[in-house]
Amino acid sequence: MIVTLKHGADPAPVQRELVRRGLWVRRLEGGDNIQFLIEPRSTSVARPELLSIEGVASVAIETPLHPRVDKQTDVVNVAGIPVGVAAEPIFMVGPCSVESEAQIHSIAARLGPLGVQFLRGGAFKARTSPYDFQGHGADALGWLRSAADAHGLRVVTEVLSAEDAERVAARADMLQIGSRNMQNFALLRAAAAQNRPMLLKRGMAATVDEWLLAGEYCLVHGAASVVFCERGIRGFDPSTRNLLDLGAVALLANVHRLPVIVDPSHGAGRRDLLPALSRAALAAGACGVMLETHDDPGSALSDGPQALPPDQLEALLRGLRTPAER
Ligand code: PEP
Ligand code: MN
Repeated sequence: MIVTLKHGADPAPVQRELVRRGLWVRRLEGGDNIQFLIEPRSTSVARPELLSIEGVASVAIETPLHPRVDKQTDVVNVAGIPVGVAAEPIFMVGPCSVESEAQIHSIAARLGPLGVQFLRGGAFKARTSPYDFQGHGADALGWLRSAADAHGLRVVTEVLSAEDAERVAARADMLQIGSRNMQNFALLRAAAAQNRPMLLKRGMAATVDEWLLAGEYCLVHGAASVVFCERGIRGFDPSTRNLLDLGAVALLANVHRLPVIVDPSHGAGRRDLLPALSRAALAAGACGVMLETHDDPGSALSDGPQALPPDQLEALLRGLRTPAER
C-alpha cells in the first residue's frame, strides 16, 4: 500500500501513527506530496483506519503480485485432510526413495498407528549425481498407492518431468515439486494442469517472493491448492546440510496466513537434529512436518544419514503430540 500525505502535512506524526499500528514504512522520495510505502511484512491494517489518520490524503492499494496465493484460505483440503495454520498438524513421512514393494509396505504399516496422514517417497528421484539411484519410476508409484491404501494413508510424491505429470497424478493424492525444480515453469504448468493439490518445495536459493510466485504459477495453471514446504536453503556452513529457514516459515504462516510445512530431514541432513527442528517448525507456525524414515538407515539407497529408524520416528512423533515435551 502507498500512503500519500496531504499537501504541507508534517510527515513525522503520520509516520509515528503508522509505526504504532505495526506497519513498516519507507518514505518514497520525489513527487509533489510525501508518500510512505507500507512494506509487505507489516501487520495488516484496514484502509479506512489509515485514511482516518490526521494528515493522510489517500491510501492506494498496489496490484498484488500473487492474488491467487493470497486468496488461498487458511485451511486447504488435501484428499480429505485439512491442511493449514488453523488445522491440526499433519505429518508426511516415508523413505527418501521407494526402494521396493516390500520396503514401502513395511514402512506404511508402521506409520498408520502413529497418526501419520501422508506417505511420502520418491519414485522419480532428482539426484545430484547421475551415478546415484534414480528411483524405480512407474513401478514405485503403484507400490506407493497400494501401501498407502492398505494402511489408510494419502500419497505425496515428486513429479520430476512434465511427461510424468499425468501418470503421477493417477496414483498420488498430492503432487510434490522438488527444490531443484521450483522454477521449472514448464513442469509447474504440467503438474498444475492435473488439478491436484501441490506441495511446492522451496528452491535452495529462492527468495520468499520467488517461492510465492512459483505457487501463483501452480494456481493459475489449475492446481487445486498449494502447500509450501521449507526444506533448507544453501548456507555457508556444512555443519548442517542446508540452512533451515524458519524465519520464512513464520512469515508465510503468521503474516501471509499460508499453509506451510517444514522438511527438517533435507534441512539438517542428520537425524539427531530432527526432534528439535520439528518442534521448532511447529512453534514457528508450520502446519505440518515432512520426515524421512527407513527400516535400516545404514542400507538406504539415498539419504541414509537423515533417515529416522522406527524407534526414533515413533519417539519423535509421540514427543510432538505431548505438549509437555514440546
Ligand atoms: C524429496 O523430498 O524427496 C527431495 C528430493 O527433497 P528436495 O527436493 O527438497 O531436495
Ligand atoms: Mn531425501
